[in-house]
Parts: sequence; structure tokens; C-alpha cells
Amino acid sequence: MSNDREKLTTGSGMPVDDDQNSATAGPDGPVLMQDVHLTEKLAHFDRERIPERVVHAKGAGAHGFFEVSADVTEYTRASFLSEVGKRTDVFVRFSTVGGEKGSADSERDPRGFAVKFYTEEGNYDLVGNNTPVFFIRDPLKFPDFIHTQKRDPASNLKDPDMFWDFLSLTPESLHQVTILFSDRGTPRTYRNMNGYSSHTYMWYNESGDYVWVQYHFKTEQGIENFTGEEADEMRGTDPDHATRDLYEAIEQGDFPSWRLEMQIMTPEEAESYRFDPFDITKVWPHEDFPPIEIGRMVLNRNPENYFAEVEQAAFAPANLVPGIGPSPDKMLQGRLFSYPDTQRHRLGPNYHLLPINAPKCPMHSYQRDGAMRHDDNDGGGPNYWPNSFGGPGPDPSYAVPAIDVAGMAARHAYELADVDFVQPGNLYRDVMTDQDRENLVSNIVDHLSGAQQRLQLRQCALFYKADEDYGTRVAEGLGLDLEEVAGLAEMSQEDRVSATSA
Ligand code: NDP
Repeated sequence: MSNDREKLTTGSGMPVDDDQNSATAGPDGPVLMQDVHLTEKLAHFDRERIPERVVHAKGAGAHGFFEVSADVTEYTRASFLSEVGKRTDVFVRFSTVGGEKGSADSERDPRGFAVKFYTEEGNYDLVGNNTPVFFIRDPLKFPDFIHTQKRDPASNLKDPDMFWDFLSLTPESLHQVTILFSDRGTPRTYRNMNGYSSHTYMWYNESGDYVWVQYHFKTEQGIENFTGEEADEMRGTDPDHATRDLYEAIEQGDFPSWRLEMQIMTPEEAESYRFDPFDITKVWPHEDFPPIEIGRMVLNRNPENYFAEVEQAAFAPANLVPGIGPSPDKMLQGRLFSYPDTQRHRLGPNYHLLPINAPKCPMHSYQRDGAMRHDDNDGGGPNYWPNSFGGPGPDPSYAVPAIDVAGMAARHAYELADVDFVQPGNLYRDVMTDQDRENLVSNIVDHLSGAQQRLQLRQCALFYKADEDYGTRVAEGLGLDLEEVAGLAEMSQEDRVSATSA
């Protein structure tokens, strides 16, 4: 063996003499406890896996940059957006949502689209999806929703009954269901899809004036999707096709890029707008809020180590920077808690110190200790605030603008349920082509045919409420009684549910 390689060592740095033969008592004898290189190697292997992400487990990531192309300083003081031409390093992770870490990239599922901007005022994470809306608007429903997309507790199989039972009991999901079962639910690659913030965020400027915004990353590779059939075939042929596509494109110098477009709404417009601008099941129609191009993102470097950079990447919508704040969107409020919480569970309380997650600007806090605190733990300085010994202090000039909220503290039910059918209807009628509608109906029929008939009826009534043609075609595909579907569509959700009870 050549002598010019680096020495193999144990974790403590002791050189290893032999990595092929365990130390034994005699050539055929039992293995000796004193072979600490062996025991360390086995023990570390036993601990290689960390908890899988409960959602977004299967993913691929890449490094790149974001470059500003328009002056947005009237809207935000965010330093990374402060100058046309300014570049900021990013790390992006794309993912499927419901499947396990080994699941197929071509599954029908929303795709995660998470961007970490390493700005000079802290890391900014925009943790979006390839869809502009979401299934539910209240975080209290999230764990239940995800359970229905995963596996049956008894059979450990995916279950169309669970899937459609929950969705048909949750009519606000119809908009996202319509996108999910269109061919946009099976993007051809991660490069051929858009990314949306889905949530509304606040942008505020140096004077403390604020606007509400939504982000749209538009693919410069063009939207391309699989049909349901093509996606099924790809699942069997190459379950990792989107991971492979991203890695290979970047290796070959074919760097994928996205334009960033923003929709901007003033607080006055928000007050009187016909849709709740903070309801994540709705979009802001482009006609009312035309998107403005403000920058471009390019991915130009593959990770060198998947585990270190992609598996350990921890995104959280709570990672905001001065100039960008949260909105009252209830799902966003839930995610502000849940994302950092799940990262603490998955990676430990000091996950933010891992190289892929660490900010590239100075970081000082009074959080100390905890498992795997592998830096200097902020040395010998004071570990409490306030202090008289020169420890870091807060700066009131970074306060997020105050917003006026009022009302009774209670569990408020959503009261405009019929509005939930407007946008899916518009999408079906006005945006989709004939081919899109045909594929949508066929994709739904394929999946919904696996559920009990009463669930088919309840769900079809929702499609019918969004658009008669939509509901009729799905009902026909399933061989349902059209009059029954139309009758159920006339009912309140409460009556519809009792009419379709077992
Ligand atoms: P517009 O006609 O101005 O915009 C339609 C949007 O729909 C475009 O951004 C287009 O994205 C996208 N789109 C095209 N085909 C599909 C499809 N098969 N599935 C999902 N999205 C598609 O209309 P509005 O702004 O008034 O919105 C009408 C409907 O379009 C909405 O109810 C919503 O369902 C959908 N939509 C709206 C978005 C928004 O932010 N306003 C964003 C995405 C969808 P692209 O240009 O990238 O192809």
C-alpha cells in the first residue's frame, strides 16, 4: 500500500495499524475487547442514522447564489436586497413531502422548495413549496393531515380511505387537491418547477413602513410535468430520478435558475381585500397584484457530502432577517414554532452551529451548553442579560413594525367556507387547458377509485361545488350517480357529512 496517503486513525487520532483483521486470541479465536478500533467502528456505525424528517424526508440540495435585479429598498430594509447586482450565497433543498427517505422522487406530492440565504444580518430561510397554496389553514390540523398521507396504523400501507376521508371532511383543501392532482403534482424534475412562499410575509423598510408580500420563484428551465402514467413508470425505473437530474445537471455545468417575482399588497389593500390575504388556501390573483421581478437564483455547486450538507440542513421559517417579518397567517405561526422544534429533535439543540446551518455573520446569544455544543460556547463572557460586563445587547432599531390586532381570544371557526370553492373553480375553468383538465380528472379517478363509495360521493360533491363540469367528470369516471353528487353539493358541509356517514 502506498505511503503517500493520510494515516487512518481512530476518533481520538491514534494511528490504526490494520483495518482488515480484528484482533483475536489465536487465528481462529474469539475477538478481543482490546481491539478498540473495532469497537469504535461498530459503535459509530450503529448510530449512523438520525431521525428521519417527519415530513420532507426525501430530498436533494445544492449551493448557489441569489442576485438582486430591482430596487426594493422602498419596501424592505433587508440588507441582502439592498442593491441591484448584490449577490448572496444560498443553499436550496428540494423534497417530496409524505414519503419516507427512500421513497420515489416521482410520487404525486407537493415538492418542498426551501432556500437558505446566508445574509450578513443572519440566515434567512424561505421554506416554500412548488404550490402557491396549502391543504389546511390552521396548524392544529397539521399532524392529522400528515397522518392521512402516510401509512395506516394497522396495515402500514398507504390508504386511499384515510387520504380522501380527511380531505373530504376538510373542504378548504380543494384548491391544493386540484393542483396536486393536476400534472403539477408530478413535476418532471426539481429544475422544472416553480417555488412559492405560499405564506404571506411582511416586508418593512428603514422608516418602519410595511407591506405584505408573497414570493414566486419562476423556473427558467420551463414548467415540465409527468403525466400520471409517466410518473408511475419513473417510480419503477428510477426512484431517484429528480435527485440524479439535479446533481448531474450541476456537474455538467448546466446550472438551473429561477427568477424571483414578488406580489406586494399594502396594509390598506389587505383590510378590504375580497379574500383573506393571510389564508394559505388562497392565492392573490395576478390581475390584482401583478408580480414584480426582483432577482434571480442560480444553483451552481453540488454538495460534497450529502449527509453534512443536505441531511443536516435545517430550514425554519423562523429564520428571518431585519426587513422581513411574519404575517398573521395561522399556518405560518404554527410553522414558526414547529420547524425549529423538529430540528432540535432531529439534530439536537445546537443544530444551528452545524456548518451548513451556521450563519456567515457574527452570532452572539445567551443560549449556552446543550448536547454537541462544539464551538467555544461563547467563551468566558457573561451568560445572562442584562449584565454590566460588556455582553452583547439588543438593539431597538431592529424592531419589527407593530401591527394592530384586536378581538376575542377564542377558537374561531372560519366563517366564509363558500369562498373556498372560488379559486379551485377559477383554476379548473380559466387556467387549465383541455388536456390539463383531462389529466386532472383521470389522475383523481385513479386514486379516488380506491376509497369507499361514500367518500367518493362526498369528495365529488366538493369538486362539483367548485365547478359543475369538474364534479360531473370525476363522478362519471367513478361511475357515481350524478343526481346524488349534485344533491350533496347543494347541502351544507355538515349535512353532506351526515348524509355520507357509514
Ligand atoms: P393568472 O391567469 O394570472 O395566473 C395563473 C397561474 O396559474 C400562473 O401563474 C400559472 O403559473 C399557473 N398555472 C398554470 N397552469 C397551472 C396548473 N395546471 N396548475 C396550477 N397552476 C397553474 O390567474 P390568477 O392569478 O387569477 O389565478 C387563477 C388561478 O391560478 C388561481 O386560483 C390558482 O389556482 C392558480 N395560480 C395562481 C397563482 C397566483 O399567485 N395568482 C400562482 C399559481 C397558480 P405559470 O405562469 O408559472 O405557469
